[in-house]
Amino acid sequence: MEEDVNVRKKAELILGGGVRLPEGFVFPFRVSRSTAGPGAGSSSAVFSFYGHRVKKSISYDSGEFVLIENDGILSMTRGGEPFLDEVRIEPVVYHSPEQAFFNIDQRCMYHCAFCVSPLLGKELNKRLTDNDIVRMTKEAIGKQKVVSVSLTSGVADSVDKTVDRFVSCVSKLRKEFPELPIGVEPYVSKKEHVRALKEAGATEIKLNIQSPNRKIFEKACPDLDYDRIIELLLYSVNVFGPGMVTSNMIFGMGETDEEIEDMFEFFCSRGIIPTVRSIHINSTNSSALRSTIGEQPAVDAERIMRLARMQKRKLAEYGLDTRNCHTMCIECGCCDIVPFRDI
Ligand code: SF4
Ligand code: SF4
Repeated sequence: MEEDVNVRKKAELILGGGVRLPEGFVFPFRVSRSTAGPGAGSSSAVFSFYGHRVKKSISYDSGEFVLIENDGILSMTRGGEPFLDEVRIEPVVYHSPEQAFFNIDQRCMYHCAFCVSPLLGKELNKRLTDNDIVRMTKEAIGKQKVVSVSLTSGVADSVDKTVDRFVSCVSKLRKEFPELPIGVEPYVSKKEHVRALKEAGATEIKLNIQSPNRKIFEKACPDLDYDRIIELLLYSVNVFGPGMVTSNMIFGMGETDEEIEDMFEFFCSRGIIPTVRSIHINSTNSSALRSTIGEQPAVDAERIMRLARMQKRKLAEYGLDTRNCHTMCIECGCCDIVPFRDI
């Protein structure tokens, strides 16, 4: 019961606004600005409580949640009422706690309605080289706990070139860190891409189907190929192994719970771990979302929790477990309720 209370609080934090910091509060760690994920573009920090962690945008001026510091103990309020009696701030390695997660190129020639990465200001485009990524990972490992390294990217020029970039980066990382789990989240269009990534040394792959509803997918991701993603997900299981392939769905775009459950069944029965992420609407993506998928009912904490429980049941039915994955969003856990980790 107590666990449910804290899971609900995590769901409310995921859906809610930012965190206001106390005046003069000095952060114990470097604060990062992400170029991917729901917090892309804003300064954010990772807060942890009772075994859960969540990444929130932070500001000294305003926020739905308010961080309170009292005798070195941190707590959080909302609307003047106590919300979390004890909270900690977790260090991030790069983008994620205990994980070096790099966006190797945020530029993208595609136009997914919900995606803000390609729309961020050029000053946020870090354009790291492979050597930068290896060096930064090595430095991080020397200073703090790093369980894995992960790579994501938009498609700047062509899918082939993007995959080549992943492959060169993964090869260098693998040479330098023979044992470290390496996760990749590319857009791929042929089987050779999947094989090349595995041969370079990647251990986990994430190919996002984005929506369980093909019509919604076609509106939200007009440049991507639904059937090809499914085909390559199935192929990836042969190459990477069952439970080492993941695929995300964004919910809150007009799909039903039944459609999500059907996709859970389809994926889990084939060794693919499905993940689900609530839509995040902000000033950067709201007009694209309105013109493609229209106004949709807001996601509430109840739905986040219901889908996470459904996801856990389906994973268990097919003997899949998120604790065997060590990269990307499953390992990070900052933006979703992750089965077997949060619930
Ligand atoms: S393929 Fe779509 S989701 Fe991925 S970076 Fe490009 S626009 Fe964003
Ligand atoms: S859960 Fe994924 S998108 Fe969210 S902060 Fe972690 S790595 Fe980034």
